[in-house]
Amino acid sequence: MSTFAPTEIRGIIFDLDGTLYVCESFAAEIHDTAAAYIAGLRGISQEEAALLMGAARKKHAEESGTIQTLSAVCGELGGSVQELHRHFVHKLRPEAYLVRDERVIRLLETLAERFPLYIYTNNNRVLTTRIINYLGLDRALRGVFTIDDEWRAKPDEDMVKRLLEAIGLSPDEALFVGDRYDVDLRVPEQLGCPVYLSRNLEQLLRLEKLLIPSFPADRPAVPACHQAVRS
Ligand SMILES: [Mg+2]
Repeated sequence: MSTFAPTEIRGIIFDLDGTLYVCESFAAEIHDTAAAYIAGLRGISQEEAALLMGAARKKHAEESGTIQTLSAVCGELGGSVQELHRHFVHKLRPEAYLVRDERVIRLLETLAERFPLYIYTNNNRVLTTRIINYLGLDRALRGVFTIDDEWRAKPDEDMVKRLLEAIGLSPDEALFVGDRYDVDLRVPEQLGCPVYLSRNLEQLLRLEKLLIPSFPADRPAVPACHQAVRS
């Protein structure tokens, strides 16, 4: 994680899944749904598809040292990213897994008083809209960039440049926040953007103090979905 000077930040670009909410059971459901798509495509069982996906990811990690996204795994196994996302929209029910957290809503609404806030996600527009509405985050956001805008998944240098141009910020003014360094943060950091790795609720809420140092700490009980993934 890089350090950054809050005074230079003029906008914040958040990843969505695993960053603005953390829910292992929904992440597992996304993975299972992708495996079901690959299974249908190749005429194999979902378990066999999951093994193939795991092997593809392992091979990629060994060869490149980076994490492979679900979109990339799907493409490598012969699938279409567009079809995968159509399958996601049809099958996934984020409302059955996610828990609205007032502290995250308050974090974004407080940050939104000082910075324009954006989402840049490898999720699709339909599910992203459902998730941010369900979590109560929609009012704090100035804009949302999803994979189906151009069908180019993160990490993608050209898309980060286009995003910066669209929101009118130079790299040093745009703070990127995400839960996967290789996917969400490496490219922005290489372009000169400040970055912040957030893998759990505590790290996410810490942003408020880092960006608005006078904000008082307040830590009520943690909802079950977050509790399950904290270490
Ligand atoms: Mg993520």
